[in-house]
Amino acid sequence: MVDQQIIAIANQKGGVGKTTTAVNLGAALAEVGIPTILVDLDPQGNASTGLGIEADERHFTVYDLLTGDVDLAKVAVETDIANLKLVPSTSDLASADVQLAQVVDRTRLLEKQLKAAPEGTVVLIDCPPALGLLTVNAMVAATSVLVPLQAEFYALEGLSQLLATVKQVRHGANPRLRVNGILLTMSDYRNNLSQQVEADARETLGDLVYTTVIPRNVRVSEAPSHAQPVLAYDPLSKGSIAYRKFASEFVGRLKLVSENA
Ligand code: ADP
Ligand code: MG
Repeated sequence: MVDQQIIAIANQKGGVGKTTTAVNLGAALAEVGIPTILVDLDPQGNASTGLGIEADERHFTVYDLLTGDVDLAKVAVETDIANLKLVPSTSDLASADVQLAQVVDRTRLLEKQLKAAPEGTVVLIDCPPALGLLTVNAMVAATSVLVPLQAEFYALEGLSQLLATVKQVRHGANPRLRVNGILLTMSDYRNNLSQQVEADARETLGDLVYTTVIPRNVRVSEAPSHAQPVLAYDPLSKGSIAYRKFASEFVGRLKLVSENA
């Protein structure tokens, strides 16, 4: 793998599987020995909770990282998963748009800090459900953007706005930014609609869409309340198997991106 890979997991829609993908892709990469840092960039802090880092354990957060008060080494904490570190978030982050509005280079705050990620590390950024300053910071810092798409009606709606934002960032602050791919999540094969959405996505977006599709699986939705990735909570569940398969496809794609870069 060539130097650092920083992947922003973004979609301005809420509830499409961003956090679930961040946590489980992180766990799956860590499982195969790839040092991974998950940056929780959502004020809701679901990735932090889902990895068992309780609010009272979040001494330093991604907000301190953005303001430059602490560096990455200090803010990234170990999780129960070997090779997986977390930069936690708290609700303070909700005011970041306003608090940071006057800061010079305010779209480059995360980029500056993530340069300190050790070589060979994969950094995953779990974005909030908006295309505001936080998501733009993630895109400016990132090498590529991974888009989870819920296999439901209206899934493709909003995607053009997201891709337009990626394009804007590429033509401005971050020329290296690419679309890593699109991951279909929460698919239900008993449901014709899921199949229709998948067919539409593949027809419109071609190879950008990952071959692996994440099924809707109750074990995936139970895992966060046990403060674990589904990979740890129920390693042989359909959700775990799918996220592992996706991770191996993802790693293959990163290598391809690096070679072509
Ligand atoms: P986002 O971060 O985009 O808002 P989440 O990852 O939090 O979305 O997912 C939204 C909800 O759907 C959560 O309750 C999560 O547990 C559930 N969920 C996500 N993926 C699956 C899945 N494959 N099967 C079942 N439930 C899922
Ligand atoms: Mg989320």
